[in-house]
Amino acid sequence: MGTPVEAHLAVVTGASRGIGAAIAEVLVANGFQVALLARDEAALAGLETKLGARARSFRCDVAHEASVNATLDRIEKSMGSPGVIVNNAGLGGPFHRVDEVDQAEWDALFGVNVEGVRHTCRWALPRMKASGYGRIVNIASLLGLFGGARSSTYAATKHALVGFSKSIAAEWASAGITCNAVCPGYIDTEMLAKADSQSRESLLRRIPAGRFGSAEEVARLVAFLVGPFGGYINGSTLVMDGGLSAHVANEVIGF
Ligand code: NDP
Repeated sequence: MGTPVEAHLAVVTGASRGIGAAIAEVLVANGFQVALLARDEAALAGLETKLGARARSFRCDVAHEASVNATLDRIEKSMGSPGVIVNNAGLGGPFHRVDEVDQAEWDALFGVNVEGVRHTCRWALPRMKASGYGRIVNIASLLGLFGGARSSTYAATKHALVGFSKSIAAEWASAGITCNAVCPGYIDTEMLAKADSQSRESLLRRIPAGRFGSAEEVARLVAFLVGPFGGYINGSTLVMDGGLSAHVANEVIGF
């Protein structure tokens, strides 16, 4: 607990691909040292090589508190105590109706999307408090603010994450710590690539911007939140969705 946190050392979970890999890349470009966490060691090693000396990879399954604690202890010993945690690791689906979702699917999603975040926060918050500095960003979703048919499990995890983020903000702000939730709409990553082409077309028609977001756009928002201009943004849910959630009237009333 004695090591002061380093404002320019960031842990990014789910960094092996998609939004997490983009966040790591943008943070390195902005002068951060980054610890890359995920389960796919080969993908992590590839990104570590691409990003160079300021990135190091660590195999970690965020669903297991022992794995998270052991990994964060290793990072603390080898790189220092992180001042920034970006909780990005997440599972999508299952696209089932409530009565079709089995307990294993429910548990798996909550294990990664909610408990995974709780594990890193439990480890980091007391250390950040001791140093009087910390930045936590949790990657939630538009489905952390709205519901969706066949999305109840995912939406429940992301609503939980939004509430968890706001509560951390309220509880730890006096210690110089901020915690925010980013709520992306549809971002073009492997998670979205799993949707069939008909669903992708139908989604695109509903997005006022006429395109999906990119992982890099989410990453830039994260970099802003953990950078020098983000200090007074706390407990916020930042939506990035190309206008999708702003035109409910078109969808419901049919303007
Ligand atoms: P991907 O499926 O492309 O990547 C998910 C990442 O999470 C991978 O790096 C994966 O790594 C990691 N991960 C999954 N399970 C675990 C685990 N148990 N322990 C550690 N890491 C894990 O998803 P995206 O990049 O699209 O999504 C990233 C985040 O953004 C997620 O939280 C998602 O819910 C959210 N989001 C995505 C949107 C989109 O449209 N793409 C929209 C809104 C939110 P590995 O398999 O190597 O462990």
